[in-house]
Amino acid sequence: MKLAHRVDPGEKVRLADIDPDDKGPFSGKNDSSVEKHVTDLEMRLSALQERLYAEQRRGVLVVLQAMDTAGKDGVLRKVVGPLDSRGVDVATFKAPNTEELAHDYLWRCHAKTPRRGDMVFFNRSHYEDVLVVRVMGLQPKSVWRKRFDHINDFERMLTDEGTRIVKIYLHISKDEQKKRLQERLDEPDKRWKWDSKDLEARGRWDDYIEAYEEAMTRTSTGHAPWWVVPANRKWYRDVCVAKILVDLLEDMAPDYPKVTIDPEKVKVPD
Ligand code: AMP
Ligand code: MG
Repeated sequence: MKLAHRVDPGEKVRLADIDPDDKGPFSGKNDSSVEKHVTDLEMRLSALQERLYAEQRRGVLVVLQAMDTAGKDGVLRKVVGPLDSRGVDVATFKAPNTEELAHDYLWRCHAKTPRRGDMVFFNRSHYEDVLVVRVMGLQPKSVWRKRFDHINDFERMLTDEGTRIVKIYLHISKDEQKKRLQERLDEPDKRWKWDSKDLEARGRWDDYIEAYEEAMTRTSTGHAPWWVVPANRKWYRDVCVAKILVDLLEDMAPDYPKVTIDPEKVKVPD
């Protein structure tokens, strides 16, 4: 069953053609059948992640990108939260500090890529260096436009060296963002999330969409594909992300390492 939109290599992404309200195969289904599906996915995901960690051979890098309020933190809480923390990490990338700015833009991201056995979720990523950097004019075009090639080379290298990569764009509509920002003003327990800088980004909505479309078009490859996840409905967003991860891990088919002892011959002392 295919839930989200996978960007094929060479496909020209047009976000306007993908419905952020999509409920996929769940339209008309009742809540309990959706819930059963989610529980099933979560169980499969946990079991696969345990094997990936036990195997200690390959890593998984999941890039999460989205406009503000689209739910990166929600995905991390709901889908990633229940996983075994021994083998799972989240790396959050904010505006670079002085030390980070003194290096090339991939430096800080490379340092956080997964060890063998681990899954690492990038909450924002090296893609900001062709998104916010482009939209807000932090670097000239002559600098950021070369980065699509760097990023493709970087991701190719990581793949060759044993890391599987999947990249997820949480797709919300501009109207849905307005509703969610307004909730941050109206509801006292959401006010802490308010960030006036989000309004600046919202003011450049169309430029961001254009930048996302070009970034995904230029960097979706067979080994490091982009997925566009309809995210106006939080439950559907979470189901899609869980399904993408389950499919990826099932394809990797991680296994427990060979046992080097004969359990029959070992006695646990009294
Ligand atoms: P948030 O994820 O809402 O906490 O915000 C993090 C902020 O850091 C966003 O405004 C990003 O655009 C910004 N940011 C992340 N990476 C970069 C980067 N490489 N250059 C400039 N700003 C960035
Ligand atoms: Mg923000």
